[in-house]
Amino acid sequence: MPTGIRCVRDVVLLTLLILLSQLSIAANDELDIKTLESGWSYHWGDVSYNNGWEMQTAEWKDLAVFDDVPGRSNDASILWLKLSLPAGHWRDPYIFVDSIDLTVQVFENQKMTYEFGHISLAGLSQFQGWPWHLIPVMNADKPTELYFRIYSNYPFIGLSGEVVIGEKSDLLQRVYKRGMTGMVFIVILFVAGILVTTLGIIKRERRIALSTGLLSFDLVLMMFAENELSQVILNEPLIWRYLAAFSYFLVPFFLGLVVREWFSGVVRRIALLVCIVTCTFVAGVIFASVSLDVSFIHAYGIFDGLFILLVLALLIGCFLRREPLSFQDGLVIFGILALFLSLLMDMFSAYNFLFWIAHAGQWGLVFFTLAMLTVYLAKDRDQQVSLNLLMHSLEKQVAERTFELTESKKQLEQLAQEDFLTGLLNRRSFVDQGKRELANALRHHQPFALVLFDIDHFKNINDNYGHGVGDKVLEKLADVAKRTSREGDLVCRYGGEEFVILLPQSNTNDARSFVKRLHEALNNISLMVNNGERICITASIGIVIFEQFIAHGEDNHIYPEVDKLLEFMLSQADEAMYEVKDSGRNGIKERAF
Ligand code: GH3
Ligand code: MG
Ligand code: MG
Repeated sequence: MPTGIRCVRDVVLLTLLILLSQLSIAANDELDIKTLESGWSYHWGDVSYNNGWEMQTAEWKDLAVFDDVPGRSNDASILWLKLSLPAGHWRDPYIFVDSIDLTVQVFENQKMTYEFGHISLAGLSQFQGWPWHLIPVMNADKPTELYFRIYSNYPFIGLSGEVVIGEKSDLLQRVYKRGMTGMVFIVILFVAGILVTTLGIIKRERRIALSTGLLSFDLVLMMFAENELSQVILNEPLIWRYLAAFSYFLVPFFLGLVVREWFSGVVRRIALLVCIVTCTFVAGVIFASVSLDVSFIHAYGIFDGLFILLVLALLIGCFLRREPLSFQDGLVIFGILALFLSLLMDMFSAYNFLFWIAHAGQWGLVFFTLAMLTVYLAKDRDQQVSLNLLMHSLEKQVAERTFELTESKKQLEQLAQEDFLTGLLNRRSFVDQGKRELANALRHHQPFALVLFDIDHFKNINDNYGHGVGDKVLEKLADVAKRTSREGDLVCRYGGEEFVILLPQSNTNDARSFVKRLHEALNNISLMVNNGERICITASIGIVIFEQFIAHGEDNHIYPEVDKLLEFMLSQADEAMYEVKDSGRNGIKERAF
């Protein structure tokens, strides 16, 4: 299975797992956990203190919703909330609060039972992070009252998110289950980040891979810092808040990097600007919190606005291009949009503009990662297609070149065998093929013959008409010799104007009638030269016939080696031919064996 398809399979499986765990949480809502919606009252500013808080004598106003306390004056940084709890049948009851702005002390029966961050008697405290809280209830078997002394110098003061009561074990179980759901998202995102990075590096798109990977890891860090389980692993809410804040602040920077690497054109400049603005912002926040003692938490408000502007600029920039968007471009934009919308939903629910939607942000991140994975897979498919095309054309070219090479090899071989002027066999290939024919003939006891002829007074033709005409005569002669002989006869230009013809499967009669036909054909050759004169030729022919020898097969041992046999035949034919020369030329002499 290709890596890409395996990635998608893993991501789909993990997504199903999340859905299942979501269902199991829904089923878990049957646990004996109650939302604390009623029984709240409030008091702005500190109640009197006289060797103990005088809560009973303070003036309390009823509160319909605990997270929206009316009438806060500008300088109020202390809010008291009173919760009247009816008697319950709890064994180990705790109140779970999603978060508190900012620090809190809880009192029951005049005793402080819980403190997060220290609030001095004078009502001063400091931001400590936004963890979830488990506040013990000591006397739940009879009606009791809990008092929350809450400090905040932020625009919001009080409790937010869920406030529920239940057995400690049930509440912790819920924390684990909810945290685990988030952890599944985190693991998906982490694995997908590693996959995208690895795939990118394998495909030699190091910069795209790295920017996408960095964005995924930044989101993983942000999600983990926000996850309820991070607090179980390390109970340092402030550190987690720092990590959550700065990984969130850096999202536009990494988004900018991805866009810059992915797209071309004007959006690259916009992306660069987004990166610079984000870095400047983060540097400014660090400087302000270190030097000016301004908490980085105040930066959230400014950053949220900035985040919307920067991501919108990036998204608009993606469309500012001359070329049409490709499918992959569309996927990248979809991913960024999903991420943007999900973070926007998180942001709006933090400002209470929206109901809290379970894991809205995390789904956006998963969509983003899925989109990026699909981009790589689509790219993989495209690359596969062009690779196939390339391979196909390469194979075609290789086949063409191989064909050409085979052809030229054939031609070369032919040239090596041929005489360059007449196209007849040359001496070497005649000897090679002749030996093969002789071996065959001996094996099958078939008669054969060899003819050798030399043109008479050829020198005179050269001398009288020039070498060119001499060549033409040789070509003509070769043509005649070739046409006179049968297929299977080996016709060879043996030397200058000397030719040999091997006649396999020819008995004495065949050989004699052939040599007669040849002699006549040669004598009939006439070549017109420029001045209208005709050139005629004669030739002296020697012929050697091997029939008797074959008939007495037992004598074959005389010439056991075919090369010696061929040599012998050639010398016999040569001698016969010279006999003709000596007896006045233009004739035939025969030797038989
Ligand atoms: P004869 O054989 O009857 O004794 O007389 P000849 O004139 O043919 O004598 P010889 O065989 O000694 O001479 C052969 C001549 O053939 C000499 C050489 O110039 C000529 N010759 C050899 N090869 C070629 C060739 O490729 N082209 C041409 N034009 N002439 C060639
Ligand atoms: Mg000669
Ligand atoms: Mg000659």
